[in-house]
Amino acid sequence: MSQSLPFDAAQASAAYRNALDVIGAVEPNVAGAIRSELADQRASLKLIASENYASPAVLLTMGTWLSDKYAEGTIGHRFYAGCQNIDTVEQLAADHAMALFGAPHAYVQPHSGIDANLVAFWAILAQRIESPALEKAGAKHVNDLSEADWETLRKALGNQRALGMSLDAGGHLTHGFRPNISGKMFHQSSYGTDPQTGLLDYEVVRARAREFKPLILIAGYSAYPRKIDFAKMREIADEVGAVLMVDMAHFAGLVAGKVFTGDFDPVPHAHVTTTTTHKSLRGPRGGMVLCQPEFADSVDRGCPMVLGGPLGHVMAAKAVALAEARLPSFQTYAQNVASNAVALAEGLTKRGAHLVTGGTDNHLVLIDVSAFGLTGRQAESALLDSGIVTNRNAIPRDPNGAWYTSGVRIGTPALTSRGFDAAEFDRVAELIVDVLTATSPTAAPSGGASKAKYVIADGVADKTHAAASELLDANPLYPGLELA
Ligand SMILES: *Cc1c(COP(=O)(O)O)cnc(C)c1O
Repeated sequence: MSQSLPFDAAQASAAYRNALDVIGAVEPNVAGAIRSELADQRASLKLIASENYASPAVLLTMGTWLSDKYAEGTIGHRFYAGCQNIDTVEQLAADHAMALFGAPHAYVQPHSGIDANLVAFWAILAQRIESPALEKAGAKHVNDLSEADWETLRKALGNQRALGMSLDAGGHLTHGFRPNISGKMFHQSSYGTDPQTGLLDYEVVRARAREFKPLILIAGYSAYPRKIDFAKMREIADEVGAVLMVDMAHFAGLVAGKVFTGDFDPVPHAHVTTTTTHKSLRGPRGGMVLCQPEFADSVDRGCPMVLGGPLGHVMAAKAVALAEARLPSFQTYAQNVASNAVALAEGLTKRGAHLVTGGTDNHLVLIDVSAFGLTGRQAESALLDSGIVTNRNAIPRDPNGAWYTSGVRIGTPALTSRGFDAAEFDRVAELIVDVLTATSPTAAPSGGASKAKYVIADGVADKTHAAASELLDANPLYPGLELA
């Protein structure tokens, strides 16, 4: 299979060579690091489920003077003069996002996925909590509230409840967990997955929602390898009067590419949908919020409520990436991401690996490496020593906790952008199982098995490195793009 990134190699080579000369004339070390990064990316068997490769058009868009403009406010309503070109790119990005996802409203200013979630949380609070408080105070907008009204509001906000997927089942820490402000803004409760099947049980979610009565029901994940029935989640949210917020940061590319449709497409079912733009969607590093019309006004107040000034150059790159995602070739890409994940899952399973939920419906698989006698930390390190880049991840009810873990998360978006096909992912599965089989924990200084230290049987890491290089050579990253 050939690489799926749309670009012209000769044009991109010329652009980057010139750009690196301009940069290198000022700070050659930075030009050097940029060159090294491309070399490293090309030489890496990148299986990190949240990473991808953006096209040269997307990347080049960010290196422009659109970065030099302050543009607080919204399209056509800026607090600075001369924002007509920022208006143009922000409108383009929003239009592409609305068309691509069939969303009534898109806010493309968030700088990252976490920021997009903050915008969404505040917008939901503003829409659901402020309205009555505002009415009582005779104010039209939060900015018009008196200090005393704010005091009332803060008390009300302190009591809000959010219900999301538990971290060890694959949820994200911005869904109401302690290390994130959402864990301080909300009383949080979570739903996990079925201990036997590893799957989300909607009746358990429903029961938990009835009992907990959340203001926000959150769906979405970073490490759950299955699709979610968002129609059912909405039904549950409606039953308890909650707002359904879906964080599709990981799988937005599968929604854009029409792998997840109908009940599995979050956008028509959620009140508010948040996402990153740099994971499976293959855009610049950034975030977005899509929402139903009733939330649009609150969402658009994201900057300056919780965001710094909009990044014009990144919004422009989002517009380019979203235009790419509207091409038929992106649907082929997304289908391949999903079918490659199935090939990877089958390849791992038939060689004896245990997968959480037994397989995948999306772009990732989660291996329970305890079956190899390893912690996630040991497995991640041994794979890295062998030229395979993954990340360790907790599995449901993980006995090794969030630091050492018992899982390794593996995703297909990046290598699928390089052109890896199902047979090559089967080979990747073989390499992974070979390394994990050849790895054993070493004794801790205190006796017993270490959770971090390990040895790989002689020669396996080198042999795997060579096999990985062969696969990478067959699927070059940015083929024809030459910097020298
Ligand atoms: C990656 C991710 C985020 C955070 O995105 P950043 O751009 O790193 O801030 C939020 N939610 C989910 C579900 C994610 O997977």
